[in-house]
Amino acid sequence: MEMTAAELWEHIRSAVRESIPDHAYASWIGGVAALALTDDELVLEAGNRFKAEWLEDKYGELLEARGTDILRRRLKVTVRASTSPDAFAPPSVRLAPPAHASTAPDGLRDAPRSWAHPGPSMPLEDARSPRPSLNQRYTFERFVVGTNNQLATAAAGAAADRPGRLYNPLVFYGGVGLGKTHLMHAIGHQVLRNNPDARVAYVSAEQFMNEMITAIQRGATAQFRARYREMDVLLVDDVQFLKGKESTQDEFFHTFNALYDSHRQIVLTGDRPPQEMEGVEERLVSRFEWGLAVDLRPPDLETRIAILRRKAEDEGLVLDPDVIECIAHSCTTSVRELEGAVIKLLAVSSVWNKEITPDFASRVLDLRRREREPRQPQTSPERIKEETAQAWRVRADALSAKTRTRSVTEARHVAMYVMRHVLELPLAEIGNRFGGRDHSTVLYSIRKVEQRMEDDREFRTRVSDLLQTLTGTPADPMVH
Ligand code: ADP
Ligand code: MG
Repeated sequence: MEMTAAELWEHIRSAVRESIPDHAYASWIGGVAALALTDDELVLEAGNRFKAEWLEDKYGELLEARGTDILRRRLKVTVRASTSPDAFAPPSVRLAPPAHASTAPDGLRDAPRSWAHPGPSMPLEDARSPRPSLNQRYTFERFVVGTNNQLATAAAGAAADRPGRLYNPLVFYGGVGLGKTHLMHAIGHQVLRNNPDARVAYVSAEQFMNEMITAIQRGATAQFRARYREMDVLLVDDVQFLKGKESTQDEFFHTFNALYDSHRQIVLTGDRPPQEMEGVEERLVSRFEWGLAVDLRPPDLETRIAILRRKAEDEGLVLDPDVIECIAHSCTTSVRELEGAVIKLLAVSSVWNKEITPDFASRVLDLRRREREPRQPQTSPERIKEETAQAWRVRADALSAKTRTRSVTEARHVAMYVMRHVLELPLAEIGNRFGGRDHSTVLYSIRKVEQRMEDDREFRTRVSDLLQTLTGTPADPMVH
């Protein structure tokens, strides 16, 4: 029996209804729609990024397990955030009309033909892949300037005001989440503000390649070339993707030359400085070095605080200054990490209906950090059972048996919780270690423990003490 995405989602929803607390069900599952179903994947759509991340993180495994049961084949569940109209504006990127053969730049003549044969068929729809537009939020106004990005911001502003004249190409490089894409979009916005008729294109290097391949397959390479070569400003994100992709590099080389020769602005981003881009042809690397390459570094503490204040303001959030400080101290590597921390705090506070106090923030963030650190298993499942049984004064073997007395049941739940959080074992495996219990039973048990830790201080202390015995580190009383 084949189902549609929506039908399958209905089945999964009703199957998990029981094992998820009402408020959580309403917040995280209720409003979620099914987008697509392929052989092995169900794609869901949640209202925003934080809901999507949360749902996938917390309930992904359960949804997958239920879906797998229902379909009787392995199912992966992914959750996407719906693209709100406000986050991505309609076409602020203009595309030039297709090819005027007469304007074909020199580069075209020696473009390689080796790949220019129609390839195996590809769905035609792909050829008209939707173009990304500039993210409305990625403007200069919303970009907080600190010592880590001062030079990059100044160069971006200059390039936007005098495209093709000052720094060409302008290259931003640095680690993930430091604002490269943001600055690049900001240039696009400002160029269009200065000159609404300017032709600006933003593509990732990967998309450039995909479009090129599709164009080849459709016999539309002339249009593809003309389109990019007629831009006033070309923004190409993440050029490290070109690594090892020779024909794409070749094509890009000619696009670059055509634009450069007619003084059009080229802006690139990459994960490292041009001279360190391995797997990119020397002739391209040397062109990347013709202009200005500036790095973006992780923000310092003051800048992190300023960014957080700005984000809170922009999103209409009220965050206590001490909470801001706490986040800024705890997230040091990138702006993306700062944003992630805020999202996590909002999510946890809304699920547990708690105010975000500095204490709450530091506990959640500490937990988040620990979740991310690769953990050394400090204990074994057997030891967890033994210690839990001892602490709850029950027999260890009763935990895996059918015994349902209150104290055994409680100890069993706690041992499951500890196995999950200390050893991060999969739910099914935990179930097996307790006499072949079903993973949704395990999940339910763990959630009960979490809930009770929230509500019952004495219980929380007992679990904390147990965790401390087992891991040697003070336990975190926060649920996750
Ligand atoms: P990169 O392209 O370097 O990986 P992004 O440009 O995607 O990073 O930035 C990651 C997130 O951080 C984006 O949401 C962006 O708006 C935000 N961001 C980065 N730097 C700043 C900054 N200086 N001020 C405000 N927001 C920033
Ligand atoms: Mg980026």
